[in-house]
Amino acid sequence: MTQDRSERLLNFIDGEFVANQTGETFDVVNPATGEVIYVVEQADEHIRSLAIESAKKAFQTWSYMSAIERSRILHKAVSLLHERTDHLARVETLDNGKPIQEAREVDVVTGADVLEFFASLAPTQTGQQQEVDGDFYYTRKEPLGVCAGIGAWNYPLQIACWKSAPALAVGNVMIFKPSEETPRGAVELARIFIDAGVPAGVFNVIQGDAEVGSWLTTSDEIEKVSFTGEVGTGRKVMESAASTLKDVTMELGGKSPLLVFDDADLDEAVSAAMLGNFFTQGEVCTNCTRVFVHDAIYDDFLARLKTRTEENIVAGDPLDTHTNFGALISKEHHKLVMDYIEKGKQEGARVLTGGEAFSPDGATSGFFVQPTVFVDCNDDMTICREEIFGPVMSVLRFSDEDEGIRRANDTPMGLAAGVMTKDIRRAHRVVHQLQAGICWVNSYGASPAEMPVGGYKLSGIGRENGVETLNQYTQTKSVYVGMVKLESPF
Ligand code: NAD
Repeated sequence: MTQDRSERLLNFIDGEFVANQTGETFDVVNPATGEVIYVVEQADEHIRSLAIESAKKAFQTWSYMSAIERSRILHKAVSLLHERTDHLARVETLDNGKPIQEAREVDVVTGADVLEFFASLAPTQTGQQQEVDGDFYYTRKEPLGVCAGIGAWNYPLQIACWKSAPALAVGNVMIFKPSEETPRGAVELARIFIDAGVPAGVFNVIQGDAEVGSWLTTSDEIEKVSFTGEVGTGRKVMESAASTLKDVTMELGGKSPLLVFDDADLDEAVSAAMLGNFFTQGEVCTNCTRVFVHDAIYDDFLARLKTRTEENIVAGDPLDTHTNFGALISKEHHKLVMDYIEKGKQEGARVLTGGEAFSPDGATSGFFVQPTVFVDCNDDMTICREEIFGPVMSVLRFSDEDEGIRRANDTPMGLAAGVMTKDIRRAHRVVHQLQAGICWVNSYGASPAEMPVGGYKLSGIGRENGVETLNQYTQTKSVYVGMVKLESPF
């Protein structure tokens, strides 16, 4: 992977890189160094019309291919993802600032797993048939056509895999727009698809900011938008998708709770809290940023949390395989997170550890914020209400189960939640009352391909992964067949 500042990344349409006509570009910055590493061409009118034209043409080929043939090709892409792991992990780390150990073991692997899962399901899609009054009808599950994917910057390659896999498996084609902060992961996937034998145009990647995203949501040539990003942006996407009555899948933000009961395994509870706040330097949508700890174990929990946060987190050059804590995505986001930390201090929360920006050895110009734990928090503090999307954990006390559940649910968002307890009945009783689409019991963060994920309340609409996601990429056609003579009053 080159770090040549003069490198220019073009839009990837119909199996090749295509230059725009306006010459407009934007910069991509390595979060660990603050330096521009390459420039990207913004998708102009020329690129957009080529993307649509090529996608529509590719749909004719891809959707008519047998499901088993599509499956075989997508399985080849899975093998290529694994073969290119080192390269892909490096791309993700340079664009995003996350530790390469994570990119290699989580981003690439979970992206490939989801593609493998849906490739395997492709030939299992069936309709139904039923006899009615001597006639019969049958149903066909047909693809939607040209779908759009719009990605966030925290898991660029994984998001591109998670959106394209179910769409392509059942015969759709996709125009994907990655975040303008991390444009390369989706392009690497597009090249893998081509190398695996996916026809040109089935997965086009167009580059750009909100303006390009907004064009995708209003285009009347596009049948569906699958979006990952902030709640506020999701609202805009849904509003403009309504103008053409597009189907939408929305994977949005969260302010998720973790409930640690007094009988929990304390070390495991600390592991869950740290995984759910410091993995990917806190830039994970499902993060348990509100950690409710039972009174009886509060002090012990904090002591272990402080020790492990101060001793086990290794910040530094994300390309160093020993680093387990990277840089925030951008200077602007770094400021946003620091502003939240200041607000936490002003509103009376106490910093148990962290709370400052810093410059670790090996990455002194990067956008780093210390892993931060606030204690003595209350539910009304800004840090306990708004999504920060950085390494900032708020710890709150609770003393009884009903109170814990009520306070955990007291948020307009509902992406995820966790419960740490050895009491099996309590675990399920509590989980069944939590308003969240993804709940973990004595675990946090795992998201296998087989498990549907998505949000309650403001955190989203629809699901990704799991068998049910295929229904969001197909439409049912009912075919009624008259076997008896057609009667008519006319
Ligand atoms: P964002 O909403 O700023 O941007 C997301 C994408 O939308 C980008 O590609 C952006 O260019 C595009 N966009 C911006 N304005 C648009 C518009 N008006 N129309 C169409 N597209 C537009 O989000 P972000 O900062 O990239 O990502 C962080 C957010 O994503 C957090 O809120 C996080 O919780 C959320 N997220 C959710 C999930 C999930 O699965 N629920 C996963 C990852 C991230």
